[in-house]
Amino acid sequence: MRIETKAIHEGWKPGKGEARQVPISQSTTFKYDTSEEMGKLFDLEAEGYFYTRLQNPTNDAVAAKICAMEGGVAAMLTSSGQAANFYAIFNICETGDHFIASSSIYGGTYNLFGTTMKKMGIECTFVDQTLPEEELAKYFKPNTKAVFGETITNPTVTVFDFEKFARLAHSHGVPLIVDNTFATPVNCRPFEWGADIVTHSTTKYMDGHGVGVGGCIVDSGNFDWMAHADKFPGLTTPDESYHGITYAERFGKGAYITKATAQLMRDFGSIQSPQNAFYLNLGLESLHLRMERHCSNALAVAKFLKNHEKVAWVHFAGLEGDEYYDLAKKYMPNGTCGVLAFGVKGGREASIKFMDKLKLASIVTHVADAKTCLLHPASHTHRQMSEEQLLEAGVNPDLIRLSVGIENVDDLIEDLKQALD
Ligand SMILES: *Cc1c(COP(=O)(O)O)cnc(C)c1O
Repeated sequence: MRIETKAIHEGWKPGKGEARQVPISQSTTFKYDTSEEMGKLFDLEAEGYFYTRLQNPTNDAVAAKICAMEGGVAAMLTSSGQAANFYAIFNICETGDHFIASSSIYGGTYNLFGTTMKKMGIECTFVDQTLPEEELAKYFKPNTKAVFGETITNPTVTVFDFEKFARLAHSHGVPLIVDNTFATPVNCRPFEWGADIVTHSTTKYMDGHGVGVGGCIVDSGNFDWMAHADKFPGLTTPDESYHGITYAERFGKGAYITKATAQLMRDFGSIQSPQNAFYLNLGLESLHLRMERHCSNALAVAKFLKNHEKVAWVHFAGLEGDEYYDLAKKYMPNGTCGVLAFGVKGGREASIKFMDKLKLASIVTHVADAKTCLLHPASHTHRQMSEEQLLEAGVNPDLIRLSVGIENVDDLIEDLKQALD
């Protein structure tokens, strides 16, 4: 199946007389006939559901669809994109460990990695992702356990150089984890370029209608934990909280997601509600259609802004001449996403004034859904950052993040035009 067909048919495969659409298993618990059957589930000796904090059939069906779309071997849904990125790292990093992340990532992830995980004794070094390979190699330490980046960065919309970072990660014996939220598997499949684990905020294009916060982690199954056993004891040595199971031995390619479910979901409980997973599945069914329109609308808007005398600059990797155009063509030949960044002449103040004049596009703390919206990171999502941190993250104080929706593009351009005027 091609990706459009997977988006419709993967995940839930009903038997005779069963619901055609994925049913919502709105149940906290699941019934068994004998105490022994239940015991086996607790010991991870049998597969099955027992409590929704760990796993739920609706969630698993939807995770399986995303897994198929990404080309992975195992996946899990989480309550949010934040939970997905936290689990993705914490599943392989312990106190005393270190990992490397691109400095131009989503503000929420930057705080999670730089502040909150630091309190857990896990150190993150943020790097300029445009540095040459030999410069980036200097940031690796003996306790480095992962490399993290975003396919298309939020909000600066730069493009991640997968091949460069996959070479770096693998030559240092660690996995490459990529947040593929903005591109979605429709436009980019990071596993095909060497990423080992993919994360998503499904809150964005996958849901697509702004109805439910959610996240997802997908494992390619390609990283050989046993080959680097000393670095990843959590996967390669017995888990005392599961009667001495060694995940990489017992579960092979499913080890990473099994551990994240059995330990992290059990202990932190950031499960997605089955109702939200149902909405997410509806979004996934039309994702390929919407991404096409998001991309064509955003390209037309980017061209309009680029040619407007009151616009200082435009970043959109799908636009010819953009700094990231070539990388985008390589990794996302069918289009990038609907998000672009630009600045209005007159700096920070002019940008804010322009935003307040818009009638159709709304100012919201959201991005990547059907409705066109925008936000000024320096005064919203990134307001806790100093001017210096902002510049390090590539966020100009005048940067406006515009998320182009799937409305008629002429209506969008007319709105932007009147506001600029
Ligand atoms: C929104 C976002 C997140 C966080 O996801 P939530 O669902 O809001 O928790 C992580 N990464 C990227 C790229 C995002 O855009």
